[in-house]
Amino acid sequence: MKLVKLNKDNRIKVADETLIYIDPDYLYIPVVNPNFKVNDYVFKDTLLTDNIYAGISGYIKEINKNYLVIANDFKEKSINVKKEKRTITIETILKRLAMYNSDLYNLFKSLKNTDNIVISGINDEPYVYNNIYILKDNIKEILSFLDELHELYQSNNTSLIIKNNDSKIIEECLKELGTYPSIKLTLVDDLYLLGKKEYLLNYLHIPINNTLYLTVEELVTLRNLVKYGLIDNMQYLTISGDALNEGIVLKVKKYTKLKDILVKYGDITYKDYVLVTGNLLVGHTVSPSLVITDKIKAIHVMKKRCEKEDLCINCGKCLSICPLKINILKEKKISNACYTCGLCSYICPSHINLLAKVSDKS
Ligand code: SF4
Ligand code: SF4
Repeated sequence: MKLVKLNKDNRIKVADETLIYIDPDYLYIPVVNPNFKVNDYVFKDTLLTDNIYAGISGYIKEINKNYLVIANDFKEKSINVKKEKRTITIETILKRLAMYNSDLYNLFKSLKNTDNIVISGINDEPYVYNNIYILKDNIKEILSFLDELHELYQSNNTSLIIKNNDSKIIEECLKELGTYPSIKLTLVDDLYLLGKKEYLLNYLHIPINNTLYLTVEELVTLRNLVKYGLIDNMQYLTISGDALNEGIVLKVKKYTKLKDILVKYGDITYKDYVLVTGNLLVGHTVSPSLVITDKIKAIHVMKKRCEKEDLCINCGKCLSICPLKINILKEKKISNACYTCGLCSYICPSHINLLAKVSDKS
């Protein structure tokens, strides 16, 4: 198992507090063939499909082949369905997940009792902080719900995992954990790939079988759904990068356009920049017209670089760093096995974007 300590630029920082953006002018919701028409009024908790709420109140302004566009009336009107706290059982969890979240349903469907519950507060991609800010903002609720899961699934070992350099949260966790002796706090080094389930469990010597593994973000989604019947219409998004004065972690309405976020919060200090989504090591550039969905965890606003690619010097570093021992130089296209972790390009002394080269061939 190979884990890598990444070189990071200490000048790239994010503000300590989460900012909240609840009032975009428009939301761009990817609903195909909706049962609505232009000029219909929707409440913020109108269900547009099985698992997407409107998120804001207002009139439908446009329906095209990609989106249903809602113009915000800034009244946050809701249907007023009473949100009651529910008692959870294994059966009610499965029922809710089967209806509204197939990914979590697949994790829980055959779970009765479990030896271990592991909750990961790790984002190991450089300059992405969502999990730790979610934890910081919801620490009491998260621990209380985790304690309920511990009892319900009769876990022998329930752990919350965070990086040992996340000083912002360690103290708060320790303070709150006194109330929950069943939950253990485990600190791990800041190593790349510990954000992946199999690497983290291997590192902690916890078997993958009979272990329930969730990220903090997934745990909060689960809690909102099974305890309150809520489908989240907000999500966390890190905006960071060296073309910004200071980065932020933002709680934002799902389906907001990136352009609107940048106008309001992008403290951009450098003119010639690119927008990169997700993991900087993989480097997927996007345009400001991108609509933020829950698949998008971070936007990096980075100075454009003119790094010249040199010729391959056959040093073999790309192969030796690859966790899966893939010889990317010999690949014709990205194989299904590849994590697209970007380590091969990261280590290359000739600055060759190996993943891009292989993608070009496919
Ligand atoms: S991106 Fe793929 S080939 Fe490159 S190091 Fe990661 S797993 Fe290996
Ligand atoms: S790391 Fe770069 S220079 Fe070294 S063998 Fe791989 S592609 Fe060539």
